Amino acid sequence: MTRDDPDALTVNVAAMLAEPRGSVRDLAFDDLDLELGDELTLAAPADARFRLTRTNRGLLVDGDVRAVLAETCSRCLRPIEVELQEEIDEEALPSIDLATGKPLDPAVEPEIARLTGHHEIELEPFVREAIQLGAPIAPLCRPDCPGLCPECGEELGSGPHDHGDAPIDPRLEALRAFRVDDDGETA
Ligand SMILES: [Zn+2]
Ligand SMILES: [Zn+2]
Repeated sequence: MTRDDPDALTVNVAAMLAEPRGSVRDLAFDDLDLELGDELTLAAPADARFRLTRTNRGLLVDGDVRAVLAETCSRCLRPIEVELQEEIDEEALPSIDLATGKPLDPAVEPEIARLTGHHEIELEPFVREAIQLGAPIAPLCRPDCPGLCPECGEELGSGPHDHGDAPIDPRLEALRAFRVDDDGETA
């Protein structure tokens, strides 16, 4: 869905269904603002290109999605942007018999997307799933990100990092002292 038109990714293909096998439609969508669920956020609107091809039983759906996700480096926790380019290679079948108008059994090939009863193809789920599948499980700000020091929490790799035997962080020292006091009072 775009910001201007939330239903832009639902396209009526009734005319295509009346065309012979092999007929083609090219569709382009810019400025897509998608809800991706709790875990994923777009850093910028996404773009999608589709080529629909009429087959003898429905439509082939070839697509190409470009998106930028707002992520967090899984090692150093820095906010990062992850660029994705994902291919879509799917199929969509009518939900009603084109000759008789009767509903087709949705239990047949349930994994294949269906057109709506109004001969519309809903492209939004294809785009959303492509982005969800392409999103890295453990995104990194750079492939060799050394992450955070387990002792002091500072970023590693930004120069020499050696605590020696010195106190780690004045704030931690203060906290430690506070805890001792606290124990003394409650004992
Ligand atoms: Zn990192
Ligand atoms: Zn450290």
